[in-house]
This record gives sequence, C-alpha cells and structure tokens, in this order.
Amino acid sequence: MKCYIFVGPPGCGKGTHSVPVVRDFNLCHLSTGELLREQIAQGTELGLKAKSLMDAGNFVPDEVVEGMIASQFDNPRNFDGFLLDGFPRTLGQARDLDAMLAARGSEVTGVIGLMIPEDLIRARIKGRAVIEGRADDANDEIITNRINTYHEKTEPIIDYYKSKGKYYEVDGDGGPGEEGKLEVYRRIRVQMEKMEG
Ligand code: AMP
Repeated sequence: MKCYIFVGPPGCGKGTHSVPVVRDFNLCHLSTGELLREQIAQGTELGLKAKSLMDAGNFVPDEVVEGMIASQFDNPRNFDGFLLDGFPRTLGQARDLDAMLAARGSEVTGVIGLMIPEDLIRARIKGRAVIEGRADDANDEIITNRINTYHEKTEPIIDYYKSKGKYYEVDGDGGPGEEGKLEVYRRIRVQMEKMEG
C-alpha cells in the first residue's frame, strides 16, 4: 500500500488539493482534522474531549489521532493507498507512523510540503472561516497559536523526511482564483510522479 503525506502550515491548501490527488491516484484521503470534526459532529466521547483542544488551536493527544489512523489502515478498501493530510504533525507521530506502516509491510512513499508565506496563511484562514465556520479559524490569537505550533512541532518532520530522501516541496501559491489552484495542483502532480519513479 502506498502512503503519501501532505505537510504544510494551516491554510496551505492540504485539504483543497487532496481532492484531485485522491481522485487521480486512487487513494483514500485520511484527514485527521476531518475525522476529528466528524467525531465532534456525532457528539462522541472522543469528539467531546478533542473539541476544546481543537477550538483553542492545540493538538489532540497522539494516541487519539494514531488510533484513528490505525483503524483506517486496517479497513481495506479498493484503493492503491492513502493520502495523509494533517498527520503526522510531530516527530513522535512521524516515528509512530513508520512503525505502524512497517507492521503492515509498508513504508512512507513520499511527502509533499506545500509552502506559502505567512500573510497568505492568515488571509486564506480568514476567508475559510467565513465559508466553513470553524471556531479555530475565527480568532487571530488562535490562528497565531496554530502557526507557532506548526513551526515548533511540525516543521521538524520536514528534516526527518529530507534525511530519508522522501521530501518534495511545492510552492503552494499559484496565484489567484481557480487558475492558481490548477497551477498548484500541476506542481503537485509533477512531484508525485517523481515519487512514482
Ligand atoms: P486540521 O483540519 O488539519 O487543520 O486540524 C484541525 C485540528 O485538529 C488541529 O488544530 C488539531 O487540534 C487537531 N489535529 C488534527 N490532526 C492532528 C494531529 N495529527 N495531531 C494532533 N492534533 C491534530
């Protein structure tokens, strides 16, 4: 089973570009943020525990997200692999993912880093807040916390994957509108095809 990862700051376009990637590469999209929001919507115990952490822009515990990912890995469907979006988010999670994949006879295929400048991060998150109504998108302080947490906790995974020769970076700013999105997707495809060898 193939395993691709999208990494990048909040608002970089991971969710947006996951849609055509999973369609064109026949992958199962696994977004830990989406899976958590589903739990919240269903009012489960896990959702209740995650909500206050998420609303404040803090991470939920590793065992929660890793449990969700493992159960998806063990639910085989007609896909060629997975696209992980929002996981791993820490070095610990990256190492745990390697162990989870190794236990299933697999490994990370490649990592796409979607990078955008900080002013664009803030503009995009604010635009999304109006459309999606996410509590963690609405407030400057929470947005700042998420950006800082990204730099502090998530960025180190880039060097981890670079050292394994698995990191491929894409400029996530393709310009305005639909044309800009298509341009970024074209760049992503170029990198994913490199991973295919
Ligand atoms: P996202 O939709 O990827 O922006 O995630 C929304 C929120 O869900 C994050 O700010 C975290 O609170 C939580 N979350 C998602 N993925 C993870 C993860 N891998 N580890 C810890 N918390 C996560």
